[in-house]
Amino acid sequence: MGTENIHIIPISEWLGIDAKPIIIAGPCSAESEAQILQEAEILANTGKVHLMRAGIWKPRTRPNTFEGMGAKALPWLRKAQEQFGIKWMVEVANEEHVKLALDSGIEVVWVGARTTVNPFSVQEIANALEGKDIPVFVKNPLNPDLELWIGAIERFSKAGLNKLVAIHRGFNTYQDHVFRNSPNWEIPIELKTKLPQLDIIVDPSHIAGKRDLLHEVSQKVLDLAFDGLMIEVHPNPDDALSDPKQQIALSNFDGFLNELENRKTHFVDAVSIDKLQRLRSLIDEIDYNLLENLKRRIDIVEEIGHYKAESGVTVFQLDRWIEIIEDRLKYAQDQGLDQSLIKEMWTLIHNASIKRQTEIVNKNLSERDTFDA
Ligand code: PEP
Ligand code: MN
Repeated sequence: MGTENIHIIPISEWLGIDAKPIIIAGPCSAESEAQILQEAEILANTGKVHLMRAGIWKPRTRPNTFEGMGAKALPWLRKAQEQFGIKWMVEVANEEHVKLALDSGIEVVWVGARTTVNPFSVQEIANALEGKDIPVFVKNPLNPDLELWIGAIERFSKAGLNKLVAIHRGFNTYQDHVFRNSPNWEIPIELKTKLPQLDIIVDPSHIAGKRDLLHEVSQKVLDLAFDGLMIEVHPNPDDALSDPKQQIALSNFDGFLNELENRKTHFVDAVSIDKLQRLRSLIDEIDYNLLENLKRRIDIVEEIGHYKAESGVTVFQLDRWIEIIEDRLKYAQDQGLDQSLIKEMWTLIHNASIKRQTEIVNKNLSERDTFDA
């Protein structure tokens, strides 16, 4: 099954919201009924939150740490849902979680990064959800493996679920000293390229790992035109039972959202569209010229290849390569072009020329051998 067979209904349709970014907020973990009700009330009152999140089964790295309130938190979420009219989503990691959550009126679930890495667990959850009309948010796996992420989405799709959303929460890398989880933006961007109909929500809390970085990462999410944000919010972050450093204070959340600048993803007025169109047709023209010149260059390279073959001269000529690269870099510098880009481009072009000429010389040799024999 290729990605073209994954049928996805976008969030806008099933949540009835056309606005972007989609905002998901709530505590890392549900800790008490009072906390859940307080968060639901304040976040609902901002009028900017579309879904709420809370972990009740927490996958912790080490045992003997807070592992979540478990099923006893489910009635708190249901109560908050009924009182404030916003759906709560929880993390499910096995069949039992799915059953307990759905029986308690939870209508949206997410799969955590530690679960996405394991196809057995993903399949178990997909089987438990089969035949149910439940939206599933799939976090990326811990390791930067796009195939594994897509594989998890595919398993839910094959189980007949089509309200599917991806959550980018960054990747575990040993080396990153800035982020708790490296963003590797190229991976979610490639996911979007492969599955354009899939909404991608970014979780800046788990990428940043600390409050100070939240604004910067969230703004980047909007600048890159991802579909939404999932942010951990807590009434007293410093006292939170999990992820205290990265949660934002409930009282600061509205201000935090207001400080983000939601840039347009497209030009809207006719004058800008017109100008963009004209500039793009210039780019098209230049690209055609580049391609035509590349073809002329290859033709000449081939001609020289035949000449070298007939004269028994080596394909690679060090002096000529040094002359080319020095000359082109100097010419590029005079034009104000980036030297490293030009070096990279001409190394590619030269390698391709050498490859083409080697083919020509080898063909000439084998023809000569046949003739001699
Ligand atoms: C969470 O959302 O609280 C969580 C545990 O996240 P992740 O699976 O991304 O680590
Ligand atoms: Mn967390």
